[in-house]
Amino acid sequence: MKIRTGIGFDVHRLAEGLELWIGGIRIEHEKGSVAHSDGDVLIHAICDALLGAAALRDIGYHFPDTSGEYRGIDSKILLRKTADLLQAEGYTLGNVDSVVCMQRPKLKEYIPAMQQCLSEILGLAPGDVSVKATTTETLGFEGREEGVSAYATALIYR
Ligand code: MG
Repeated sequence: MKIRTGIGFDVHRLAEGLELWIGGIRIEHEKGSVAHSDGDVLIHAICDALLGAAALRDIGYHFPDTSGEYRGIDSKILLRKTADLLQAEGYTLGNVDSVVCMQRPKLKEYIPAMQQCLSEILGLAPGDVSVKATTTETLGFEGREEGVSAYATALIYR
């Protein structure tokens, strides 16, 4: 059996009056992600972790933001398509770990729903999809609430 790992990272700018989607869940907030898609920073980082584990390039390569096909798209669809790409290469998903960096709001209460949502899309158990959240102690663009970032790792095997 060959075991492989990948990493993913994503950033979105935040602006007033837009919807905020993180980990497939709508977050109550006065700001949302500026994006070509729905701007789900966590799903984008997880997609890149999965693609990276399989050395299948990156999310922008498969789902270009210059394509009208992906305008406003629900990132859950991109995650499912990413899992399909890996399955077509014969990979089985092992687990995902992730962290969202955001000053406000606190994401703690949303995390179980994110794990449930993401694991269903990936065909995993909720316990195989870890989501963590941190502030950046008011430092940097996340701390100034100008943007949100997310990191993810994934393990796959075949
Ligand atoms: Mg993105």
